[in-house]
Formats: sequence, structure tokens, C-alpha cells
Amino acid sequence: MQLHLNTPLLNSRALSQLSGSNVWLKMDALQPCGSFKIRGIGLACRTYYEQGARRFISSSGGNAGLAVAWAGRTLGVPVTVVVPETTSARAKELLHLEQADVIVHGASWQEANRYALTLKGESDAFLHPFDDPLLWQGHATMIDEVVASNVRPDAVVLSVGGGGLLSGVIEGLQRNGLYDIPVIAVETEGAASFRAAVEAGQPVELEHINTVASSLGAKMVCEQAVRLVGLHPVISEVVTDEEAVRACRRFIDDHRVVTEPACGASLACIYEQKAVLKAFRNPLVIVCGGATMSAEQLFSLYGGA
Ligand SMILES: *Cc1c(COP(=O)(O)O)cnc(C)c1O
Repeated sequence: MQLHLNTPLLNSRALSQLSGSNVWLKMDALQPCGSFKIRGIGLACRTYYEQGARRFISSSGGNAGLAVAWAGRTLGVPVTVVVPETTSARAKELLHLEQADVIVHGASWQEANRYALTLKGESDAFLHPFDDPLLWQGHATMIDEVVASNVRPDAVVLSVGGGGLLSGVIEGLQRNGLYDIPVIAVETEGAASFRAAVEAGQPVELEHINTVASSLGAKMVCEQAVRLVGLHPVISEVVTDEEAVRACRRFIDDHRVVTEPACGASLACIYEQKAVLKAFRNPLVIVCGGATMSAEQLFSLYGGA
């Protein structure tokens, strides 16, 4: 049983008219738990369940934790999510809504994660938010769906946090023979760990994260993301927080869907008409979604301007 939905692929009139190109949107914001994460996490949870796992453990207070909670509830497997003290009330509420046990531990994600790992018993599975080949394999299904609908984009725009989505989309492009379609990998300025890794030729740990796009806040990308830069055309792009938030707000009016700034970073490439896109006639934007920011929050940031 597949835990994710096959999502709509929209041809956006609003974004096409604005950019003068033919903009496609893969609407993973419409997944049941609000983001693409359920594709990879769903596959990983199913696989670990079949291998005998009877509890899922996560340390993500974001969309990865929500996807684990959703998958666990659907499979009838209990879920424990350890989150740091900084986790918002909204995130905890969403996890409770999915019937996960939420443990608050530590000042930062690192401490919560360390504690989560100590909880792992013999029949438990730990679900990493981005660094697991099963996740990449699951995320790749979004490209299978695009190919099955006979749309042939000439670039894919996506957001990068830890690089799981990037790794999955490239796996999807390559398993469909689309070796020459470049990926535009977008981050916000305060979370540019992929840009730093590309420049260094290996994953580098950022000293701190400073962005409203909390889902992009991995201090270091996974090795696979850097390895793929040598095997597939990838262009790194960086936008400001304000551009990402503004894109989310415009997207609500254009497509009536609320997304997080992490997703707005990709949308901002189109809304801000970034130079990197000028070369492409048929860009596909992965609308990766995100459930942890409300419309009210989006409209209150930067004075709502
Ligand atoms: C997880 C997430 C990302 C980043 O994905 P990575 O696999 O960590 O690169 C981007 N946007 C949203 C909404 C997410 O939940």
C-alpha cells in the first residue's frame, strides 16, 4: 500500500504569464500531511514495518516528523517524536493531532536527536528526515508521475534543506532517462548549506542557521546531495527570506494553497524572475508544501508588505 497521493500537475497560468515561460507545478503541498515528505518517509516506514519494526522514532518537529506520525497512524504503528524546547506550539499540536507521543527534550535539534537515538529499542525504526536511500527512492515517485503525464520539463526547481528532496528528484530524473534536465536547487540566504557544500566540494557544517524557512535549516547537507552534483546538472540559487515569504503570499492568491517559506524559496525563483530561469521554456516547480506555518503568520512577517 502506497502512503502518498499522486498529486496534481498544474500548468500555472499566473506564473506562466508573469515569467513568459510555461510553468508547471507539482502540487505536493496537497499530500495528506502537507508536504512531499510522506513520499519517502511513507516508503521507509512501510519497508521498516515489513522488516519487523513496531515503533517509529523521529526527532523532527517539522514536516518529516508529521509524515512519520501520519504513516504510523495509518499503519497502526506507535510513533514517538522527540523535539527540542524551541518547537512551536503549532507543530506540537499537529503531531498530537496525528496521535504521536511527543517528548520535549533539549535546547536544540542536536540534543533532541541524540536523545531520540537513545530511545531506539530492538523493534524500533529511526526515521531520518533526509539522509536515507529509501527516502530518495520514495521522493523519486514525483518525477515518475510527471513523466507518466507526458509532461517534459526542461528544468526542475526545488528547495534544499538537507538534500533529501534533491537526491530523490535526481534519482527520479535518472531512472526515467532524463539525464540532461538541470535541477535548480534553491535555499534561503540564512540556510545555504548546499551552496557552501558545492563551493567546498563536500558537505560543510554551517555555524548557524538564520532563516524563517525553518524546513531548510539543516546545518549540513547529506553526502549524496554533493555526490550527485558530479553526476547530474545542478544549479545552486539563493533567495532572501523576504522573497520566499512574499512568494508564499502571492501563491495563496494565485493557487489558493498555503505553503511554508521553505517552499516559497522555490516559488520565489519564478515570482522574482531570477536570471537563472531565463534559459528555460518549461520549468517544473516542486511545490513541496509544508504545514508548520499558518496563513496568518505568513501575512504578519515583514509587516505584511
Ligand atoms: C523537508 C522540507 C524541505 C527540504 O527537504 P530536504 O530533503 O531536507 O532537502 C523543503 N520544504 C519543505 C516544506 C520540507 O518539509
